Amino acid sequence: MNDLLDRLERDVVLGAEGYLFELERRGYVKSGPYVPEVVLENPDAVRELHREFLRAGAEVMVAFTYYGHREKLRHVGREGDLEALNRGALQIARDVAEEGNALLAGNICNTWAYDPSDPERSAAVVRAMYEEQVQWAAEEGADFVISETNDYLGEALVGVDVIRAAGLQSVVTLASTSDRTIDGHQLDEACKRLEQAGAEVVGLNCSRGPATMLPVLERIRNAVSCPVAAQPVPYRTTPAQPTFQSLRESDGTRAFPLRLDPFVCTRFEMADFAVAAREAGVGYIGICCGGAPHHVRAMAEALGRIVPASRYSADISLHPVLGSPGSETASRYGDWLDES
Ligand SMILES: [Zn+2]
Repeated sequence: MNDLLDRLERDVVLGAEGYLFELERRGYVKSGPYVPEVVLENPDAVRELHREFLRAGAEVMVAFTYYGHREKLRHVGREGDLEALNRGALQIARDVAEEGNALLAGNICNTWAYDPSDPERSAAVVRAMYEEQVQWAAEEGADFVISETNDYLGEALVGVDVIRAAGLQSVVTLASTSDRTIDGHQLDEACKRLEQAGAEVVGLNCSRGPATMLPVLERIRNAVSCPVAAQPVPYRTTPAQPTFQSLRESDGTRAFPLRLDPFVCTRFEMADFAVAAREAGVGYIGICCGGAPHHVRAMAEALGRIVPASRYSADISLHPVLGSPGSETASRYGDWLDES
């Protein structure tokens, strides 16, 4: 059964994203412009990460077309590669999805071209960019389209409209760094508007870590009647520094985007998030920038699933020191066990 809404009716759907950050860490994406040229230059690297997320329990393979729109490609002088990049990303994701009965999602995102002071003209520019990407997604067999990292309700509504017009379902998520979209709507109210416009699933992705996303999700859950999506960044955000863009090292240095390592959530924290989000009534649970396969496996297992990568899930009882604290070996490594 490859229908998103059917799956959501039965259980939580586990997603997984963060391709941009993970492939940047692996040396295939340039931080700054963040254009997914890797799809054309090193397609095997993209395929491998899809497979790792699939093995970790992700039920959705999201085509790596994030920032693969005309504006961004033009920015790096590769507008001519736009269609090849989009179709290539969709085909790679589809191939891997078929290896594990996962869904294939097309992906559109914030364009940086939307201008709330000139909504009519800029919405037309955004619409043209979305139309070509969504058309390619439809032609390559996407089961639905994720429109994500939206900062403007106005831009997100264009996405919903384009996806609907292509006959596809949409998961539309906002990523505002404050409690309002940049065009001034409370996040729960904006989600309500997206639902009314026809989005099948609405919610949040990126920007916030688990601790600062959960309270907003509860408000959204109360405001809408459709399924809610949550894909936080796996970083230890706080009420004082509620987004990963606002995280600061102790000397005040901004951690985003290249110094975030000390703030990464453990797999256990992401597992706790998955359970808490399910308890809050969230149906589509995933992870965004910074996420890696070990997080996803822990989330899947916390949701009660055994996934292919569970074959190698930890068994600390087999560790020579930690697994047998009273043993002769352990006594020689007493400092490991805090027995000083
Ligand atoms: Zn993200």
